[in-house]
Amino acid sequence: MRPTREAARELDAADPLARFREEFALPPGVIYLNANSLGPLPAAVPGALDDVARRQWGERLTRAWNEDDWWHAGLRVGDRIGALIGAAPGQTVAGESTSVQIFNALAGAARLRPGRRVVLTDAGHFPTDLYQAKSVARLLGLTVHAVPATELTAAADRHRRDLAVVFAAAVDYRTGELWDIPGITAAAHEAGALALWDLCHAAGVVPVRADADGIDLAVGCTYKYLGGGPGSPAYLYAAARHHDALDLPLTGWHGHARPFAMEPAYDPAPGIGRARIGTPPLLSLLALEAALAPLERAGIDAVHAKSSRLGTFFLACADALLDGLGFTPITPHDPSRRGGQITLRHAEAYPVMAASKERGVIGDVRPPELLRFGLGALHLSHTDVFDAVETLREVAAGGAYREARFQPRGVVT
Ligand SMILES: *Cc1c(COP(=O)(O)O)cnc(C)c1O
Repeated sequence: MRPTREAARELDAADPLARFREEFALPPGVIYLNANSLGPLPAAVPGALDDVARRQWGERLTRAWNEDDWWHAGLRVGDRIGALIGAAPGQTVAGESTSVQIFNALAGAARLRPGRRVVLTDAGHFPTDLYQAKSVARLLGLTVHAVPATELTAAADRHRRDLAVVFAAAVDYRTGELWDIPGITAAAHEAGALALWDLCHAAGVVPVRADADGIDLAVGCTYKYLGGGPGSPAYLYAAARHHDALDLPLTGWHGHARPFAMEPAYDPAPGIGRARIGTPPLLSLLALEAALAPLERAGIDAVHAKSSRLGTFFLACADALLDGLGFTPITPHDPSRRGGQITLRHAEAYPVMAASKERGVIGDVRPPELLRFGLGALHLSHTDVFDAVETLREVAAGGAYREARFQPRGVVT
């Protein structure tokens, strides 16, 4: 791919998803490359939220639980997310934070393999996942073994007599690498264990095949590529074959077989209903429901294809324009080995990003020295990608980052 602005315009002219840009409310002058952290605002969401607040809550009050079917919102939205991660209906529920869902899913998975004591995880896993794995292990008397993601398959074989769960992220949040979901899942099964996947950086940009790949359980957030908005609720997927035996530790009344009988003893609902916990954050849940529409209409395969093209174009631009300026791409050039993000290493990552943001090009930084650029396919063009890399070139070549004001720690920016 020729890394020029003219080539970018030609690619945009042939882009079947170009018209989706209008479905997002982005401020002028901004190139937003951070949907891997917080998806941009879908234009339909403010109106939907206004309806939820004024009509549903304001006028219908408690009647909205039935009349607007608030009661089933977690299951309804769960099924829509399920469709985007290759799950047939009735296996996914939305509600709670990702961290809560991780705890519930991991402890539930371990309880499906009683007597087995090892949880195998990726040493480079996201912090909350590692913290929860260790906490669940303390609670249930398990041991956590953390190995590099590339060694999970071999480690599953080594621990085969005692392995309960393999727990990893589909896409590395730092490097953007996509791991071998079917291969690692199969290795877990061969060892007699279950596979629990964190899909935070995959859902909405990579076509995950939860059912077809035999995934046992999965969790993920909805505010990244799914675009649900800040703090939108996470989801839990559990394959139907596990439902009857699934003993989740967070036994809230929404997961009861007869919630309105108000019984003193817990009796889990049949099916995925037992993965409900308590009253979900309905304002966020219903904003998420409205946010999913553009992605559903575009189709996850088309979204993935465009995101891959944007990534390939980004890397071509970086190779051509950033040569000799201290940037090293660390995301694989092979599109089948990456999620929706390109990561560059630079020794001055924080001030470079600060200077880039001052010029309207928004990505983010993760230690050590990694600049992350999320390639949300519905709101970005190839021209945006070219202009963003050109901005990085100007910032680094002109030394502008030395003057940039930046906050190196304490705030997530
Ligand atoms: C974003 C992300 C989380 C976030 O957890 P929250 O509880 O939503 O803050 C967890 N795990 C991974 C892998 C992530 O990428």
